[in-house]
Amino acid sequence: MTIDAIELTRTLVRFDTINPPGNEAACTAHLQGILAAAGFACEIVPLAAGRPNLVARIGGGGGRPPIAFTGHTDTVPLGLQPWSVAPHGAELKDGKVFGRGTSDMKSGVAAFVAAAVGMAPRLAGTPGVILYITAGEETGSEGAFVLARRGMKGEAGALVVAEPTSNRPLCGHKGALWLKARTRGVTAHGSMPDKGVNAVYKAARVISRLEEFDFNVARHAVMGSPSLNVGFVHGGLNVNSVPDQAEVGIDIRSIPGMRHGPLREQLASYLGADAEVTAFVDVESVWTDPATPWMQQVFAVSEAVDGVEPVVETAPYFTDASALTPALGGVPTVILGPGPAHMAHQTDEFVEVARIDAAVDIYRRLIASWCGV
Ligand SMILES: [Zn+2]
Repeated sequence: MTIDAIELTRTLVRFDTINPPGNEAACTAHLQGILAAAGFACEIVPLAAGRPNLVARIGGGGGRPPIAFTGHTDTVPLGLQPWSVAPHGAELKDGKVFGRGTSDMKSGVAAFVAAAVGMAPRLAGTPGVILYITAGEETGSEGAFVLARRGMKGEAGALVVAEPTSNRPLCGHKGALWLKARTRGVTAHGSMPDKGVNAVYKAARVISRLEEFDFNVARHAVMGSPSLNVGFVHGGLNVNSVPDQAEVGIDIRSIPGMRHGPLREQLASYLGADAEVTAFVDVESVWTDPATPWMQQVFAVSEAVDGVEPVVETAPYFTDASALTPALGGVPTVILGPGPAHMAHQTDEFVEVARIDAAVDIYRRLIASWCGV
């Protein structure tokens, strides 16, 4: 069975899977139909009603676990700018496919499905391939965390994340810890502030302390230092009341070696009893040493197909690998997909068709060498 990855990209883009709400079911069912027909064992692991994760396996045996590929079926919303193409039209022009999700990341999913289906007849009795096609990535990898919580250790020996990198192999990414720090007060009439306790004043002190916060960790050789940004402040209802509640949004980007649990505790005690700190996104960093033999192989395959010598780089965004890589037991992980990274989440998003073909080629070679076929 041969799958045209460009046509499959276009088909997937025509499913509106904007998240929220996601509605990934029809898109995922289409992929399941293709994979089941090619002999894959397919399992649905739901995130929620109408929001399936799909796990598809083929082959197995040969003394080591399969090679895994992952991609998500949901997309971000269209944004406020008008589009010059139909966002779900999957228009093909000038060597590009246009539409929401072309780059991030239906082309990546289409490419690894095409590669795996093409290799399927040769995989019996080999380590084989496992595909994790997730829902709900764009709002914090919720689908992948459902898979991770189910237990995955030993299911795969290496992981390819087909997020947009223009087919460059990236060795990881920072983690993200998004927190809300809530302060509480006592409301009173604005003309009598001494009768109340002002939650916004408390929030201001929290913000000043955050500006001074020192992670006190050594720089990572490739990712540099962790960062902290106060992204929003909400507090007070009207000008003539003492506000009884305020909220500060904190975006922390962590580096390998930092664990979010202890970091949350450190920050909560640093801010003191006046701030109640809760996390609303918590995805840890991912890093594979480029000297790892499998990573060296990925670099070699990438160079053979792309003609460009890879350099050691990491992604600016986070991915489902934050959930999947630790759950798989810390397997070597590469982020490598056909979409151009700068087009992810953009108006008039596109992917070049040549890059889709190149990704299929790279993935086929990775499967072939992993499985020894
Ligand atoms: Zn993505």
